[in-house]
Amino acid sequence: MKTMKLVNIRSNNVSNTDFVTTVINLSINNSTLNKEKYQYISCGIHPWSINKNNSKELFSTFKKNIESNNIFLIGEIGIDKSEKRKESLSEQLKVFELQLHVAINENKPILIHCVKGFNEIFTILKKLKFQNPIVFHNFNSSFEIYLETLKFNSYYSLGANLFNNSTLLSFLKLIPREKIFFETDESQQNIREMYEKYCELVKFNYNELVLIINQNFIKLCKFNNFVN
Ligand SMILES: [Zn+2]
Repeated sequence: MKTMKLVNIRSNNVSNTDFVTTVINLSINNSTLNKEKYQYISCGIHPWSINKNNSKELFSTFKKNIESNNIFLIGEIGIDKSEKRKESLSEQLKVFELQLHVAINENKPILIHCVKGFNEIFTILKKLKFQNPIVFHNFNSSFEIYLETLKFNSYYSLGANLFNNSTLLSFLKLIPREKIFFETDESQQNIREMYEKYCELVKFNYNELVLIINQNFIKLCKFNNFVN
């Protein structure tokens, strides 16, 4: 029997590809994304790249990347209102909305990075009547925010948030498995550890989980016409 691959929805490194399907996250400044090398790429203007006077330039680079590469997910995109980042908030809002328009036109799911900016994100998503799949990367928010995300076609990417004492753990069991992905993010951890940790936390069968996450991935592939 062919063993099923583990899906890693957000990573900076491709490792043991025989066992893992990785969506590799590439920086927007990578003017020629290596589509021959990587089957699945996520790319977007991260809120951290945005400052008071570079948003036009970033957006035109982003558009070029989207037009010339077969990008699987648009992201990380989003809002970051942490102390260090909040002075670029108005630009962040603008750039986020512009990228959502591209996602709508190109039929792409998005990958969200959010720190303290959920209200702003929800407002823009509602304004645009955004219905594409949304993957909340390292989702680590309150139950109230989780309830808000249910108004959209939301998925929750789990990784580091399974290991620290996050609020998410108090309602992890309530999140439907049909809405879950796993990620290693910037870490060197093995994606298998994330699957195992989840199974330990909610007492679920590992093989069954791998199967479900693969089905979730196939859904995203169907949405944006990717062959998987
Ligand atoms: Zn992030």
